[in-house]
Amino acid sequence: MQKKRTSIALFGGSFDPFHLGHLAVLRAAQQVDFLSYIIVMPAYVSPHKDKTIASATDRFEMVKLAVSTLPPTPPIIVSDWEIQRDAPTYTIDTIAEIKERYMPDEIYLILGSDSYATLQSWHRAEDLIDQVKLMVIDRKTVPVSATEIREKLLKLESIEALVPEVVASYISKLKLYSQPL
Ligand code: ATP
Repeated sequence: MQKKRTSIALFGGSFDPFHLGHLAVLRAAQQVDFLSYIIVMPAYVSPHKDKTIASATDRFEMVKLAVSTLPPTPPIIVSDWEIQRDAPTYTIDTIAEIKERYMPDEIYLILGSDSYATLQSWHRAEDLIDQVKLMVIDRKTVPVSATEIREKLLKLESIEALVPEVVASYISKLKLYSQPL
């Protein structure tokens, strides 16, 4: 009998916070019938130098809560690999780690259309493009951004229509994003 091909999709981001645009991306990826797993990889972002506001732990928790509302197959693995490295990681290095750990036949890289537009400037872009197949999602379909959500929270506006319910509860319980930078 022929071995079934292992196809893994990687979806990375700062997820600060995870919102309905991200959820729509994962729903769409789960509809694709050839994926064995989807790996969601919250990025490490330096607390000193970047614009991430929630801690890595909180961003990771929010992703896990949101993913727990999705169907079980194909499985979505929320990985803390980049966060645990405690330093910014290039996507090409994450791809190398996925190859070593899962030995997939193919890797798909899931990107929103804005990230795709900057891909040529990424570290070792040519190598990266050689090693993955791209799945680009049009951001106009669910036009929401984490920046917009953080701005609304600062102005004490409701974000319930923009994030999964479990994420809204988490943000409200921990009073995340209520302080200006
Ligand atoms: P920020 O506003 O802080 O820049 P963001 O909303 O763009 O954040 P990220 O965590 O940076 O969210 O995005 C992770 C990945 O998800 C990227 O590939 C991005 O293009 C994609 N993405 C973000 N929002 C959407 C959306 N509404 N529809 C489709 N893809 C999205």
